[in-house]
Amino acid sequence: MKKVYAGIDLGGSYIKAGLLTAGGKRVSSFKILSEAGSGPKTVAKNLLLAAEKLVFLAGKNKTKLCGFGVGSPGTIRYPDGIVTGSSPNIPGWVGTNIGGLFGSRGLEVKVDNDANCMALGEYLFGAGRGTKSGFYLTIGTGIGCAFINNGRLMRGSNYAAGEFGHIVLKYNGKRCKCGRRGCVEAYTAVPALIHSTKNILKKYDKSPLKKNLNDLAPMTIFEAFKKGDKAATEAISLNAKMLGTAIGSVVNLLNPEIVVIGGGLAQAGKKYIDKIRKIIFEFAFDSAAENLRIISAQLGNNAGWIGAACMNFDKNSG
Ligand SMILES: [Zn+2]
Repeated sequence: MKKVYAGIDLGGSYIKAGLLTAGGKRVSSFKILSEAGSGPKTVAKNLLLAAEKLVFLAGKNKTKLCGFGVGSPGTIRYPDGIVTGSSPNIPGWVGTNIGGLFGSRGLEVKVDNDANCMALGEYLFGAGRGTKSGFYLTIGTGIGCAFINNGRLMRGSNYAAGEFGHIVLKYNGKRCKCGRRGCVEAYTAVPALIHSTKNILKKYDKSPLKKNLNDLAPMTIFEAFKKGDKAATEAISLNAKMLGTAIGSVVNLLNPEIVVIGGGLAQAGKKYIDKIRKIIFEFAFDSAAENLRIISAQLGNNAGWIGAACMNFDKNSG
């Protein structure tokens, strides 16, 4: 019977889940609402619903289910899955024992931070294939990040490593969601891009972006940027400058082989990644950037659950 590994990626809006073979083949996948707004009990109920569905799908596909992996927002004690810190997208989630939740149904599970899972998925089956060290970023409403060195995730002494979004870009700068000031996230995540585009548009009376100013969607900005709209280009160039500067500092710190950029902002496309690349190479030391590659993530929304499934490979692969 073919072995499969179950992965679940818990997000503020959706729970994405699927079954993966040790070779990275996706056997089955689906998404359900996480209903984060209805409180942690509802989220827990939906997580178990996803797990039950995976058990059912493994049976239906005549495969042997060899373990569960879950990626969750927040600081996560690996592998047992106690949520020990910050997860703003799921109110009340801190303190949850995800491992215990699965244990109550007789299911063994490994749990890690969602950005760590995304990085593991990209490392094994996406943009990071064939590399040993990489800095993985996902930029959307917030910023997720993880670092892989010598093929292993760097989780930190207390599982709290990888908060690139809250590195300070400007001392005493803009207020961030985390309560501090001047963080990379406050300047470069999607809400900041929308805000700065609106400001820049004050100078451009003729930009078509002005039509829907109150409801300005990131995709609208990206499309305008791809068509060469001046206001969108200025906003995205500024974003790339700030992000590239911050990533350049990380390159100096960690000297990775690759920087992988994913998440909603990566949908601005190749021209945007090229702008970030240019700034990184300006800011990083030559020795740190010599063989560095800046690339787009490849697995899109699937990276999280795929990486979560991979957490059980060591024990069960083959
Ligand atoms: Zn912050």
